[in-house]
Amino acid sequence: MSELIIAIDGPAGSGKSTVARAVAATLGWSFLDTGAMYRSICVEAARQNVSIRNEEAISALAERSIIRVGSRVLINDVDVTEAIRTDQVNHDVSLVATYPSVRSAMVDRQREFADGASVGTVVEGRDIATVVFPNATLKIFLTASLEERGRRRGTEGIESIQRRDEIDQNRETSPLRRPVDARLIDTTDRSVEEIVKEVVSCLESLPLK
Ligand code: C5P
Repeated sequence: MSELIIAIDGPAGSGKSTVARAVAATLGWSFLDTGAMYRSICVEAARQNVSIRNEEAISALAERSIIRVGSRVLINDVDVTEAIRTDQVNHDVSLVATYPSVRSAMVDRQREFADGASVGTVVEGRDIATVVFPNATLKIFLTASLEERGRRRGTEGIESIQRRDEIDQNRETSPLRRPVDARLIDTTDRSVEEIVKEVVSCLESLPLK
């Protein structure tokens, strides 16, 4: 069981996935994109003809589904790596992520994933430092200007990003928040390499436990 966790939170397009993946590669740690888990539930719901508004059915689906997130994303053995990035999923995912039983099923799996890591895990999402790993080794909160975030998300568009942010920040269960003990990094106009260096040097400057 590994207790080394770097928790990276932030709004859509702040650079979480890119930075988290690169930090994990630099350190030789595992990487977990938790947004992909919530997204995969939307794809599976569509496949099973379950309305995303049906909280009870979506919760049951989330609880019984087997989700694997690595270089490919699989739900119940179906590869949904590309299917989780559609406009429809961008639109649906934040509603699904408001359901408390969906969240608790995902949080359990996120903790299991980290338990199975050989060295440490870099985990990115919205509630990682606040709820999933409140005792994370290092907590990072990424931001970027809205224009920059819109550019990064390409075809999704600024309106969709703002709508998701709004739902993610205002939901009752585990809203997106910047914890006081997280290091804030604005990624606007900065290279991935620079940010990765900053995160790694934060980790290295921590007192040894
Ligand atoms: O990170 P990504 O943009 O793929 O996340 C998609 C959506 O999943 C977010 O907008 C949010 O609604 C939800 N999410 C969440 N908690 C996480 C990760 C993602 O609620 N830890």
